[in-house]
Amino acid sequence: MAANHLRFSKVIDALPATVPFVAPEALERQSGKPIELRLGANESPFGISPKAMEAIRAEAAMGNFYGDPESLELRTALAAKHGISLNQMAVGSGIDEILGWITRAFLDPGDTVVTSLGGYPTFNYHVTSFGGKLHFVPYTAEWKNDLAGLSQAARETHARLVYLANPDNPTGTFYSAQAVMEFIESLPKDAVLILDEAYIEFADQSEVLPLSPVMDRVIRLRTFSKAYGMAGLRIGYAISGPEIIAVFDKFRNHFGVNRVAQAGALAALEDTEFLEMVVEQTRVGRADLAMAAERHGHFAIPSSTNFLLTHVGSDARSSQMVDELLVRGVFIRKPGILPLSECIRITIGTPTQHAKLLRALDEVW
Ligand SMILES: *Cc1c(COP(=O)(O)O)cnc(C)c1O
Repeated sequence: MAANHLRFSKVIDALPATVPFVAPEALERQSGKPIELRLGANESPFGISPKAMEAIRAEAAMGNFYGDPESLELRTALAAKHGISLNQMAVGSGIDEILGWITRAFLDPGDTVVTSLGGYPTFNYHVTSFGGKLHFVPYTAEWKNDLAGLSQAARETHARLVYLANPDNPTGTFYSAQAVMEFIESLPKDAVLILDEAYIEFADQSEVLPLSPVMDRVIRLRTFSKAYGMAGLRIGYAISGPEIIAVFDKFRNHFGVNRVAQAGALAALEDTEFLEMVVEQTRVGRADLAMAAERHGHFAIPSSTNFLLTHVGSDARSSQMVDELLVRGVFIRKPGILPLSECIRITIGTPTQHAKLLRALDEVW
């Protein structure tokens, strides 16, 4: 008879089985061919700052001890850098983890969340896993988040949370301080805005909304995964009012941020020269790639990130390009939802990688 006695929670049981991200490692295993250019996940091709590497090596020897659950040294450095207080900041194992804290802290089953259609998918997985309902707002014709649309949807659906990535993934588009501030002011007073700034280091810094004064109904999210090149170490942080920051302590995984990541992040913060090099090389590579796209008659969406989204005509065409590049050892990705899925997304590589990429693209385009 062997009845199956396993019982999952109702919310989880109702979710479809899925493998949301096919990693380049999995693609290599499937094809039996090594990936030569890993340009699909916006990981930094410039690696980790040599100074951070030194700190990481030294700290690895202390791996028998748990990390500081308060990440105090790092938080102190970040607070000084951003001109905010310690109780306005929490460190987690990447933005992805913190997005989970936020949904858990704010959502009851059935609550509504507003986000862009085709926007950053990890947030959506968290929302559905806590029984939240997603309300999607399409991007504008200029491939930008529709701020007025998001705000209106938040009012109409009585949303608990609103999500905005700025600069955006997957489009790369960016809103300056004034536009973001007007958006914040237009939101209903009982909604909390998640402002995901994973790519903020790549944006024009004079156009970035200042972190201070900290706003109680806004959660700013930053990470060491992109410009700082530490995606595999898993570390990022949230900045918000003390009430929200304190609530995370009720349930977060207190030892979830490992000590190697904490030490690496601290040293990386100090190596501003390395960061500037990464940002500058990225800017040059991005302009180069955009020119190559336009030479081939494809529209490259202006990007404030370390990747470029390029419109290549159709969903079928973009899928074909992803496959044809993979055959040539180049891993890139494309968005899954129309009309974004008519585009391909390529992470900006080092100058050497770039030369190889452009050769592959010349064949494929
Ligand atoms: C890459 C990315 C993240 C992931 O950040 P981690 O700190 O590595 O978890 C979050 N949000 C956006 C928009 C991203 O593109």
